[in-house]
Amino acid sequence: MNNRRFTRRISRAVSAGTLAGLAFVAVSCVSHHGPEEDDARVAAWLKKLSLAEKVSLVHGSAIFTTPGVPRLGIPELTMSDGPHGVREEQEPARIARVRAERKDDKSTGMPVGSTLAATWNKDLALEYGRTLGAEARWRGKDILLGPAINLMRTPLNGRTFEYMGEDPWLTSRMATGYVRGVQSQGVAACVKHFVANNRELDRMSVDVRMDDATLREIYLPAFEAAVKEGGALAVMGAYNRFRGEFCSQNPYLLQYLLKREWGFTGVAISDWGAVHDTAAASRPGLDIEMGTAAGSEFLGEPYLRGLRDGVYSREALDEKVRRSLLLRLKLRIGEPDRPEGAHKTPEHKAIARRTADEGIILLKNEGSILPLDATKIRHLLVVGENAVRRQSVGGGSSETTPPYEITPWEGIVCRLAPDGSPSRVTGYESDAKHAEALLAEATAAARKADAVVFVGGLNKALDTEGGDRTDMRLPGGQDAVIEALLAANTNTVIVMVSGSPVDMSRWAGKARAIVWQGYAGQEAGDALAGVLFGDTNPSGHTPCTFAKRLADYAPHALGTYPGNNGIEAYSEGRLSGYRWFDAKRIEPEFPFGHGLSYTTFDFGDATVSHDGQSVRVSLEIANTGPRDGAEVVQLYVSPPDITEKTPPQELKAFEKVFLKSGERRVVTLTLERRAFAHFDPVLSALTVKPGRYGIAVGASSRDIRTRTAVTLP
Ligand code: BGC
Repeated sequence: MNNRRFTRRISRAVSAGTLAGLAFVAVSCVSHHGPEEDDARVAAWLKKLSLAEKVSLVHGSAIFTTPGVPRLGIPELTMSDGPHGVREEQEPARIARVRAERKDDKSTGMPVGSTLAATWNKDLALEYGRTLGAEARWRGKDILLGPAINLMRTPLNGRTFEYMGEDPWLTSRMATGYVRGVQSQGVAACVKHFVANNRELDRMSVDVRMDDATLREIYLPAFEAAVKEGGALAVMGAYNRFRGEFCSQNPYLLQYLLKREWGFTGVAISDWGAVHDTAAASRPGLDIEMGTAAGSEFLGEPYLRGLRDGVYSREALDEKVRRSLLLRLKLRIGEPDRPEGAHKTPEHKAIARRTADEGIILLKNEGSILPLDATKIRHLLVVGENAVRRQSVGGGSSETTPPYEITPWEGIVCRLAPDGSPSRVTGYESDAKHAEALLAEATAAARKADAVVFVGGLNKALDTEGGDRTDMRLPGGQDAVIEALLAANTNTVIVMVSGSPVDMSRWAGKARAIVWQGYAGQEAGDALAGVLFGDTNPSGHTPCTFAKRLADYAPHALGTYPGNNGIEAYSEGRLSGYRWFDAKRIEPEFPFGHGLSYTTFDFGDATVSHDGQSVRVSLEIANTGPRDGAEVVQLYVSPPDITEKTPPQELKAFEKVFLKSGERRVVTLTLERRAFAHFDPVLSALTVKPGRYGIAVGASSRDIRTRTAVTLP
């Protein structure tokens, strides 16, 4: 099929908005003219551009725009946050244009990254990306500033909610799908924040230090996969320093690793205001400086002066410009057959809802108190500030403006209508005002109810960019309210709405049912009600470890956080997240990978086959319970020799398997050679040591159902 006919089919599929149509366009929209043709056009442009015009292309002309060069027909590049919804317009000129065109700059409010990760559904990550890409395109954007894929190292990190949990493999799988999905719509995904932006406290200055094994095995793989497998066309440097140099102007990260080693052909963009000096930023690596105050750009006036004086390399400038011009061609900016995108469609709503559904985690369900039987409950009491709080608001640059957001309370009321009418009391306020009176009111009401649903947790004023939380405790005296409710009514269900783990130790042992819902976007309340009343069978699993106490996490146990003299050393090495809990035999409240269902799954014995290239692990999974449902089959690999510095087991494959009640299916998980590789400091490379590797398959990192091993030569 010729290129034009092919892309016309794509546009028709996109405007038809069908899921099948969207499936058809995957990973196709950024390949177009031949590379030689593009290179020739770029070379021609480079010859015609003046020095000043070239410099204008390597920094922003407004908060989310880098300019074009109209006299040569070079279009501008427009960007937008963020990782879970296209942000409202921020630039005055664009706001005016939206108003003049009577367009709507709201966009579908998707669940946040940590909720997407909690689905453990790679196919859904692709659909999620497509949805965002289509919405970004419809709003005229060229680069979407997401996915955000820094790992959770401490639960205090204010942006944990935006990220995809604590594990490099889980994050890399979800990020790869997301990137492919976005880019299938003719929009570049910008993977951020490269690298080790694992906290918000002092994010503009902290200098992160770690050894190469930790970098290569823990903090790089998700970025590497997003670039090499996902084909990400943009990468954003982080604010923090890495080994002494700011990430956004760091040649080791941006030039050596990203471009040379991984073959990245896209653009490296700074985080907003993350460039600090002209000489550093002029080196090969960074391509576009963004977010610096207008007129003060380091790659602006002083750069031009230095170039004229021969202080900075013109070849390095040409390389920056070349990449940014090439991106415009790859995205087919200004060409008639570029996808037009779609906005707030029923299909987008469906993907937002599915992500919200599958991202809910049933942490505990003793005596099967859930699902609630709507036909039997005459009086349901709902307690808690988060029952009525809209969570799209706040959190920093990732804030979205969806057309609506269904709160938990609205979802529950809607689900019970017209037969039941629940009642609601506040129970607590985050600022701990009126605590005693609210607690007394809630306890008295709970005694009279058939069942109680407490909806608490955190909110986007606490889980937010620009700062870390100071501890893991629930705000507003929630612990006391939960304890009182549990004592007053045995049919009490606890729902935690939060973007990061909270300390549940005071009451987790006493609660019969605990549900975790992250910030779940516009469909949040309906998704929650669906799980509470059993319309949806929960299938989310934790993307990070939920510890009993803050001190159980490595950086707090070792006291490396927040660091000394502006430096934070990742002394735990590769023992981050569950790797630390496993190595130190610490019992978490809920382990990595944990999530219950209203049905039950049996795991058969795993068998291994090895063809010299890859290892295949097969086992039968059976849905042995009364409902259709999904299990996340997780495979962990253990190295031949476990020392006190090696992770005892690491996630290296997983599959979400949907099975009807009574259905059984053989699942095969494939391990490529890299799954067994570790960094050898002598060879300075990832290598696979010969030996016997343990293979454990289960429903969480602590619920291993079958074990086997493979010997590699
Ligand atoms: C954030 C980025 C964001 C950028 C633009 C920065 O403060 O760290 O994630 O994309 O602002 O809003």
